[in-house]
Amino acid sequence: MPAATPTRPHPGLTPGGRSDRAPAMAKDPKDTPMMRQYLEAKTAQPGAVVLMRMGDFYEAFFEDAQELSRVCGVALTSRNKDGPDPVPMAGVPHHSLKTHLPKLLAAGKRVAVVDQLEDPAQAKGLVRRGLTRVITAGTLIDEDALDGVVANWLVALTALDPEDGRPIGIAALDVSTGRFQVEDASTGQALALALARLAPAELVLPDVLRQADGTRERLAAMLAPAALPPLAGLAAFAWKPADARRWLGERLAVAALDGFGIGRGDDHLAAAAAACLRYAESSLSGAAVAEGGTGKGLGHVRSLVRLHAGEHLVLDASCRRNLDLVRNRDNQREGTLLAAIDRTRTAPGARLLADWLVRPLAQAAPIRARHDAVERLLDDPVRAAVRTALANVYDLERLLARIATGRAHARDLVHLGNSLAAAATVASALPSDGLPALLAEATTRLHPADDLTAEIHRVLVDDPPLAIGEGGLVRDGIDRELDEFRVLQRDAGAWLAEYEKTEAAAIGLPRLKVGCNSVFGYYIELTRAQAERVPAHWVRKQTLVNAERYITPSLKEYEDRALHADERARAKELTIFHDLRARCEDRLVAIQLCAQALALIDVSAAFAEVARSEGWCRPVIDDSTALSITAGRHPVVERVVGRSRFVANDTNLDATVVASTNAEAETQAQSPGRLAMITGPNMAGKSTYIRQVALIAVLAQAGAFVPAAQARLGLIDRIFTRVGAGDELARGQSTFMVEMAETAAILNHASARSLVILDEVGRGTSTFDGVSLAWAITEHLHDRIRCRTLFATHYHELTDLAADRSGIRNLTVEVAEQDDDVAFLHRIVPGAATKSYGIHVARLAGVPRRVLARAREVLATLETLNVGLTEQERPQARAGNAPVQLTLFAPVPSPALDRLKATDLDQLSPRQAHDLLYELQAIARRE
Ligand code: ADP
Repeated sequence: MPAATPTRPHPGLTPGGRSDRAPAMAKDPKDTPMMRQYLEAKTAQPGAVVLMRMGDFYEAFFEDAQELSRVCGVALTSRNKDGPDPVPMAGVPHHSLKTHLPKLLAAGKRVAVVDQLEDPAQAKGLVRRGLTRVITAGTLIDEDALDGVVANWLVALTALDPEDGRPIGIAALDVSTGRFQVEDASTGQALALALARLAPAELVLPDVLRQADGTRERLAAMLAPAALPPLAGLAAFAWKPADARRWLGERLAVAALDGFGIGRGDDHLAAAAAACLRYAESSLSGAAVAEGGTGKGLGHVRSLVRLHAGEHLVLDASCRRNLDLVRNRDNQREGTLLAAIDRTRTAPGARLLADWLVRPLAQAAPIRARHDAVERLLDDPVRAAVRTALANVYDLERLLARIATGRAHARDLVHLGNSLAAAATVASALPSDGLPALLAEATTRLHPADDLTAEIHRVLVDDPPLAIGEGGLVRDGIDRELDEFRVLQRDAGAWLAEYEKTEAAAIGLPRLKVGCNSVFGYYIELTRAQAERVPAHWVRKQTLVNAERYITPSLKEYEDRALHADERARAKELTIFHDLRARCEDRLVAIQLCAQALALIDVSAAFAEVARSEGWCRPVIDDSTALSITAGRHPVVERVVGRSRFVANDTNLDATVVASTNAEAETQAQSPGRLAMITGPNMAGKSTYIRQVALIAVLAQAGAFVPAAQARLGLIDRIFTRVGAGDELARGQSTFMVEMAETAAILNHASARSLVILDEVGRGTSTFDGVSLAWAITEHLHDRIRCRTLFATHYHELTDLAADRSGIRNLTVEVAEQDDDVAFLHRIVPGAATKSYGIHVARLAGVPRRVLARAREVLATLETLNVGLTEQERPQARAGNAPVQLTLFAPVPSPALDRLKATDLDQLSPRQAHDLLYELQAIARRE
């Protein structure tokens, strides 16, 4: 039982009061036996913060003490304070280790825990201590330090450099749930995509690579710098393919790895997977020793899934960030698509939802299968019943992980029992026939162990204590011996009273008293006079001044049982509990499948729930290149501005293939176009509109319904976004450099099946540069890549591109102008913007009146100088020449001056000079 206010032993003293400090004369405080235990652990786990159990505290020394104090805000003291060589020391109460661990892990630390391996009260000499577990960010298994709704990936990489010819394997293991996957990442792109998708909690690399110069930098370039996890190294032997295959095969109980999709040429995949699992097991080994477990490896990791390219809609790191899918720019959930639509009822469901959103599907059939499941659950009574039952399901995956690693306590088993009972209720809530395939298959897995459910409920009390060794876990009537122990415990008084009566009668005394003390145990006490009647089988135990104390064989027997009943009852309960836990473990695979089925049902029901409550529709998915949305909405912005105030908009794009016949050419001319150029003032709703299209595509391919009245989507292979400056400035690159790097990625990797979202490309450079680049990029996307593209810009010049390119459509955002007031209607309509309304937005933003008035004056001047931005005023751009936009500071063009400059006055006759004067005046009047 954790002490409420732990008493802190004097350093070097165990709770029993014995000193395990070195003999008093030891001069060097670093050379005590206890310190040697500490330093041994420190040597075994270099780089880890070593926390050593001393009494009720976990203590750290030397620089670890300083770290602990700094990171966890605990006091820094010192051992041997008054001596010549004090040792810095800091500690945390043992029961609050769980609250401090996340802080240490977040600070990028690994924590090595040294526990007492024997009961200090019974230890002879120094308490034996040993390293029981190493806790790292990627190998967490205890819920307290884990975020319930995100996977915690430990990721192993065989190499980092695709250029050196060797294929690269990347494996990911979520120790807390047992999910284990591997994929090929042999190109720089595949590697960056996989890392960005997984957002690893910790990365395992070959030792050499971990220590190589530049490794951190290269990883940071692929992940956001803030997302760079702690790096761990594993010696070369752990990565050797032949060993890796054998070891992995043994661990996963298969003769060959082909069943997991790892064939002959996939040594790199086997190596990555083996290293990943090995590292996790070595970190967690010893944990079982500390927590009374089985000492086995990660028993819940039973299979390995190979992921293949092409199965999923690819979303790279910048896309995921720009669209705020599951994490916002501050790495939080607020304001994300996930937060807006998450109606799941269980933690595994929430994790699966997040996974589906960052890894939507890329093939029509499996997407439609998910839509079918959602559609079936639109049925209100069915959905309500399913969701009510789901609310009683605990985090089954993580329960199983604790069971398999010997950490589960009785309450976990009761939660398992309750969850399995809830699973059965979910099954009965679903109609038995006519279910779509996904639900039908899931339903078959919802009864993994009904007998076990019954057994758990039969054996364990409803709300057992967390500690498994203190008794109170098992019900009465389960085990005869246990019941007897309990009877002994409870009925000691009654038995003794009965015994006293019988014995008194036997020796002919009116009364007889059985006593008990801690030294002699039970005894019958008689006065000297009474002692004459003592029968022969009584044995004298103790003689007092006026009395004699005796023990009898039956009293002795009773004593043995009664005094040890408590201890034996506890031991018996523990055995029963361990048996039950082992039985749960035997059914692990079936229960894991049940957990996955429940997560799938949960996400499908959550999609149905959001579809119902928000009025979403089922998108049509096909192999076309269409993207047509009627009354589409942005699921996140809509929540902010309110459903009634959000203006829904249509989208119509089609990346039709090149026309080879006249008929096709005609169709193409009538097609909605594949590239929409959206101009309009700032704050009008351009970004919202283009992002909403991308989010609808993500949702549709993730298997959800979408926020629209109608939607048809030809499969998309990859979504690219180039939006805003984001947080890349932290990488030390200029905004423009980042912008161009993202644009380069799009131009190099987009296919005709991709969806490209561009917001204000070219803004980071001068206007001329910017417009020219944006112009050329648009041409490339339209003419060469031919993908569906939405381009929001306030370079009005770009609208001219639509004039001679059949696939470009101009769209703008409607603005209502009345007198001096302007209202942004957020409605997307065909056409090009005519004004910027920048001054209007500046007014809304609180720019001082004086500045606004001056800006109006300058604008008026510029407009009269024909450098405004309206379409009518730009004949040169519309003619297809290079786009021109003059800045405030560019010289104002003047044909009169040009004419004057071009004339050699020395060559003019007086008559010609006179004519020139008239000509110049005429030109100047026209200007
Ligand atoms: P832009 O990209 O044109 O500068 P945004 O897309 O950032 O404009 O939109 C600015 C704000 O206008 C949003 O934060 C939102 O409050 C509002 N808004 C945008 N689109 C809509 C819409 N369709 N309906 C209602 N409000 C909208």
